[in-house]
Amino acid sequence: MEHKTSPESILCRQCGLCCDGSLFADVVISKQELTPIENIIGYEERSGRIFMQQPCLAYRDGDCQLYNDRPGGCRQFECQLLKDVKIALTAPTEALKEIRQVKSLIQSIKTLLSQLEQLDESLPLSYQCESALSEAWDLSEADSQQESREQLYDQVAELESTLQDRFRSDG
Ligand code: SF4
Ligand code: SF4
Repeated sequence: MEHKTSPESILCRQCGLCCDGSLFADVVISKQELTPIENIIGYEERSGRIFMQQPCLAYRDGDCQLYNDRPGGCRQFECQLLKDVKIALTAPTEALKEIRQVKSLIQSIKTLLSQLEQLDESLPLSYQCESALSEAWDLSEADSQQESREQLYDQVAELESTLQDRFRSDG
């Protein structure tokens, strides 16, 4: 069990980006890891490997519902922000501010996806954005739709940059 004042406890309960489909589309798991959780999560097998799909069905109300049985990939993952807090490079309050900012950006992206009728919360965020942005440009669509698409393009670029720098980086 996480200590109530551990960096994980402080940050991850406010975040969840590595569980809710914002950061990843799936997590590779082993057959042994799948057995106790296969009725809880969504998964698919491709090329002999098992992928636990995200948004993870075990992620509810800010918590992992199978914390003690969570796969090794989940146990081992630490985003750059969490690493930086652990080595006191970033203060917890500053990290929480970054989390709030990125979640606000994600919410804005979801609003745009909804306006473009491309919001599907059962899919990873990247799939929804790719689908919306890969649609052929329709010159007959309303100006508001074109503006939404342009805003989505800019905000997805900003989100990708932030996720890469602060959440995915191995540095
Ligand atoms: S992305 Fe980082 S801070 Fe957010 S839940 Fe995952 S490990 Fe925790
Ligand atoms: S199993 Fe738990 S830690 Fe892993 S992605 Fe799902 S909710 Fe997150």
